[in-house]
Amino acid sequence: MNDTKVMDSIKAKYDSYMELIQNLFQEVINSIRSYDRSSDLSMIFKSFYFAEERHRYQFRKSGDPFIIHCLETAKILASWRLDLTTVACGFLHDLVEDGRASSEELEKLFGKDIASIVDGVTKIKKMHFSRIANQAENLRKMIIAVSKDLRVILVRLADRLHNMRTLQYLEVESQISNANETLELYAQIAHRLGMSKVSSELSELSLKYVDPQAYEEISRLVENEIRERGKYIDELYEGIKEILKSCNIKAVVNSRRKDIYSIYQKMKKREIQFENIYDLFAFRVIVGSPEEDEEYNPENGEYDISKDYKELESDKFVSDCYVVLGAIHSKWTPIPGRIKDYIAMPKSNGYRSLHTTVIGPLGKPVEIQIRTYKMHKRAEEGIAAHWRYKTEGLAPTDSWQFSWLRRILEDIQEFEDPKQLIESVRTDLFADEVYVFTPKGDVKVLPKGSTPIDFAYSIHTEIGDQCVGAKVNDISVPLKYELKNGDRVEILTRPGAHPSRDWIKYVKTSRAKSKIRQWIRQQERAESIKVGQELLKSELHARQLSGKVLLKSDELLEVAKKLNLLSVEDLFAHIGYGKITAKHIVNLLAPETAEKEERTAEHERSKKQQPSGGIRVGGIDHPFVRFAKCCRPIPGDDVVGFVTRGRGVTIHLSNCKEISGETERILKAEWDTKQDELYPVQIAIESDDKKGMLAELASVIANNGINISNVNVKTNNQQAKSFFTLEVSNLEQLQKVMKSLSNIKGVRRVVRRP
Ligand code: MN
Repeated sequence: MNDTKVMDSIKAKYDSYMELIQNLFQEVINSIRSYDRSSDLSMIFKSFYFAEERHRYQFRKSGDPFIIHCLETAKILASWRLDLTTVACGFLHDLVEDGRASSEELEKLFGKDIASIVDGVTKIKKMHFSRIANQAENLRKMIIAVSKDLRVILVRLADRLHNMRTLQYLEVESQISNANETLELYAQIAHRLGMSKVSSELSELSLKYVDPQAYEEISRLVENEIRERGKYIDELYEGIKEILKSCNIKAVVNSRRKDIYSIYQKMKKREIQFENIYDLFAFRVIVGSPEEDEEYNPENGEYDISKDYKELESDKFVSDCYVVLGAIHSKWTPIPGRIKDYIAMPKSNGYRSLHTTVIGPLGKPVEIQIRTYKMHKRAEEGIAAHWRYKTEGLAPTDSWQFSWLRRILEDIQEFEDPKQLIESVRTDLFADEVYVFTPKGDVKVLPKGSTPIDFAYSIHTEIGDQCVGAKVNDISVPLKYELKNGDRVEILTRPGAHPSRDWIKYVKTSRAKSKIRQWIRQQERAESIKVGQELLKSELHARQLSGKVLLKSDELLEVAKKLNLLSVEDLFAHIGYGKITAKHIVNLLAPETAEKEERTAEHERSKKQQPSGGIRVGGIDHPFVRFAKCCRPIPGDDVVGFVTRGRGVTIHLSNCKEISGETERILKAEWDTKQDELYPVQIAIESDDKKGMLAELASVIANNGINISNVNVKTNNQQAKSFFTLEVSNLEQLQKVMKSLSNIKGVRRVVRRP
């Protein structure tokens, strides 16, 4: 066939579905009209026509036009009696993913709500869920966390429900992976949301593909069992009717088989045989009659439960449930441990009912559930029942609905004032966690504020250590980037790369922190060993001892052991860190040279220009002490010792930025000002740029008895900034001169420079 003919046949095929498409659309309209008689449906028409046009001539694997899937999804949403916006999303939900419409287009045509719901659905669909069993819980949380609007989840559930109903058309591999995902994820979410009907349909459909043999076997056995017990069931039914009559309570009785998946689970969990499962079917007693309930609306067969946050109090049939329970127990013996009062203690998803298992007429156990109409509706429809379309009153984003969801998810039983709670599900539910993906689709849960570095270390220490860059959703980001829910993170590594000291400042996880610290420590140790070795060599050299011989001798190991060190390496590291002096070691190695060295050192010290003494670190005079160039401490300053990489101890101001965040390498330090030394310090003076200013500044400094070792002046727009390096002996002296300087007319600010 040529192209035109192909197109003609596609058109013909599509046209043959036209009647079905129109009928389905009419069904959606009818369904909406059953619970909403008055609203303007133009949004529904508009969204359907738009979707039909964009999906025209597109077919699914089943051979049906794609729009049928959209119609079925919308129909499911309407059967849950959701608002028009949500039903419209049923038509539109696949357009953005397929590239048949853009998010902007949807927003322009249908408004923000619809665009953002479709966006959310698209986002969830794009997530690749591999190895589901291990991370199902996180995935469930994640889906809820990325859904800004609860309706996103409802649309996604309807979408998945229709896909599961038509799963037979897919290839076996996709059938199984879809079924697994449905079982672990969507059936569970539906269950959490209290939508038991949806949840059990989803899990039954899934089981059919995940374990077809078990599915067939169980359904066959259940049907047989029910047929065989037919008479018994009739007897039970009559028995319950009699009980109800005797206590004069109106109720509906029905029996139903338990869903196949729950039987399957029970068999697996308890590892028991089918014959021993006595709750293959259950009786349900639904007490009260809706007609007598003032909240019941006979017009649409609906309860107005928009206001029934305290639904239990407004349910006048609750006590009847207990009356029926008592009457049943007086006729048939209950099995101990099988009586469950979910009315007084509802399940976390809001489910309320009384359950009991009794020994029935033929001596066989049977489960009976007792509940009111209202509880029944809630049990079947869950959160969807709370999302009813409302012509007036609560907007769908009203916080009580979200607090209700929050309660479900967090197992919280009561809320004092739901209004105080969250505005939106997304921001608050898992506020302190962020859910992100690996490139393979695994989920990682990290504390909020985590960066790609945290992510890298959460995968493997080596990936963290060698991390040189990161991509989020295929776009390069800085390593400081704060990860967001749903981000797909890819770490770029380079063999031989290593962590940066800065990382400590912005990682969130303790794992990343400790791994970075560990690397730095190792690195420092390696450097310290090298430096320690050099220091020892030069000390030996200074005393005309042979480094070559002594550094390799057993004597050195002896010295190390004397100092409680395990190895010669440890000894070098200690020297490098400045914990032991090379001089001390050489004194131990060659005591006969010690005195001579002492004299030399004396001589050296007297020649020194740079101050090195006047301070005590950790209680001892420290030969390796240096004064940090970054903050130039002077006597009187609050200082600490900082153990540098192999360069002994440096004295910093205790609030110096260079060492902020450090703890383990900080030593206590204090001034010992017996020695009269001069310390360089830099000050900056902001002043008017006028003639003679510099001379005046200099003379004030000189009058304070202070040497100036360097001056540098910058002028700009009649302003001058002068930088002086002064040699002072202590803080007091510095403060005094700074005060005199700031008293000069035209001087605005005098600051000490770090
Ligand atoms: Mn779909």
